[in-house]
Amino acid sequence: MDHKCDVCGFEIESKNANPDLKEDYQGKTYNFCCPLCQATFKTLPEQFVTHAANQ
Ligand SMILES: [Zn+2]
Repeated sequence: MDHKCDVCGFEIESKNANPDLKEDYQGKTYNFCCPLCQATFKTLPEQFVTHAANQ
């Protein structure tokens, strides 16, 4: 199963997925392509949660 980075939209191939590069926030799991995107999400999680909810 492929995921997209919830910060930058970059596609994450399963074989490259790092199990540490995800965060649970308000009952949803967010995936990231790199530690930088994960850090960005942790800094401003609301920004990315709102974006997903508006779709
Ligand atoms: Zn990313």
